[in-house]
Amino acid sequence: MDLGVDDVAQRASTGDLPVEEHVTSLVAAAHARERDNTRGVVADYIPVLAEADPDAFGVAVVEVGGSAHGAGDVHRRFSVQSISKAFVYALVREELGHALALEEVGVNSTGLPFDSVTAIELNDGHPMNPMVNAGALATTALVPGSGAEEQWAFVARGLSRFAGRTLELDPVVHASEAATNRRNRAIAQLLESYGRIDRRPADVVDVYTRQCSLLVDAHDLAVMGATLADGGVNPVTGERVVSAAVCRDTLAVLAANGLYERSGEWLFEIGLPGKSGVSGGIVTVSPGKAGIGTYSPPLDRAGNSVRGQRATAFLSRSLGLNIFASAVHTPAARGAV
Ligand code: GLN
Repeated sequence: MDLGVDDVAQRASTGDLPVEEHVTSLVAAAHARERDNTRGVVADYIPVLAEADPDAFGVAVVEVGGSAHGAGDVHRRFSVQSISKAFVYALVREELGHALALEEVGVNSTGLPFDSVTAIELNDGHPMNPMVNAGALATTALVPGSGAEEQWAFVARGLSRFAGRTLELDPVVHASEAATNRRNRAIAQLLESYGRIDRRPADVVDVYTRQCSLLVDAHDLAVMGATLADGGVNPVTGERVVSAAVCRDTLAVLAANGLYERSGEWLFEIGLPGKSGVSGGIVTVSPGKAGIGTYSPPLDRAGNSVRGQRATAFLSRSLGLNIFASAVHTPAARGAV
């Protein structure tokens, strides 16, 4: 995977972001570098997604202090799709606790596409991790509530708290996916056959499909990511959404599994936890520093936004976000910008 950043110097990861004006200009540069890149293909397996504008492109950064930076179409709305998996997992992990979440949903990668049935069969029915569809359906099945409506209310309210505003469902996307999501229905049935979910499979798929249809924009993704970067407190609203331990656990899962079967390459190139969705969004989290949200519909073959990956790679290098990038310790370097 060539993300086009060989010419960008890797700034070491320190405790802080550069000064704000520098962040603003690097966000603009990330957008300008990729604006004319037309590589990738817009998803069409959910019919309505094929209508997305391939030219739409937004890059947003929200710092843990609450400052926002953006370039391009940062307020263009799109369905959150798989990115919801990260935040529903955080909410469910909060309810379940560390040990049970590890056991019931898992954290290990499958190395297979996100909608793989084979992965379930190869692992004795275990859903493996919450960022593939099997694990996401198992996670949604664990959402508290006496039925699908209560579960949905919990999910919609929780994701809205991450975003700091009330997120709304796109009825057209929902109808399009609900009419065509036979594979997810099969996955839920298979999980039920292995005793991995104890709610009605059709209800689990229904809540999952609704969560994927919530509308966000790149700025929302940056706020949601910044909440995970900020120990679970939304830096814009000041509301605590989840605990710091939940952020830690969720980010570990994202680092290992957030970009489908390309997660290893993503970590190698970008060095940050992130989560992509087939509508073209990516959320990336720089712990203790910021959230990054990108939107651009054309995808690579694994289902990850091409421009989003490249813009994020540029920001990771130039802002010094890669958690593996250190510099030799010198006392004088402390506090240097
Ligand atoms: N709703 C989509 C699905 O389940 C989400 C997939 C994705 O974004 N990778 O197929």
